[in-house]
Amino acid sequence: MPAYDYRCQTCSSEFEVQMSIPHKESGQAVSCPTCESTATKHLYRPAAMVSQSRNPDPHCRHAMTGSCCAAASGCGCGPV
Ligand SMILES: [Zn+2]
Repeated sequence: MPAYDYRCQTCSSEFEVQMSIPHKESGQAVSCPTCESTATKHLYRPAAMVSQSRNPDPHCRHAMTGSCCAAASGCGCGPV
């Protein structure tokens, strides 16, 4: 099961959550283990293996991390 890094926006703690991809994509709120706040944000980390076929947008400010975040993270730098 993949693990995801989250940061709590209430107490600023970072924690790792293991959940299935369908669970992750369901958009269910993740609770902070420290303060139980659901004001948590997924921290996007560069994937260990980046597919070259992703063809990162060179203008994407995230491209330097190895993969364009496209529209998935809502940065608006995806293909037009
Ligand atoms: Zn918290």
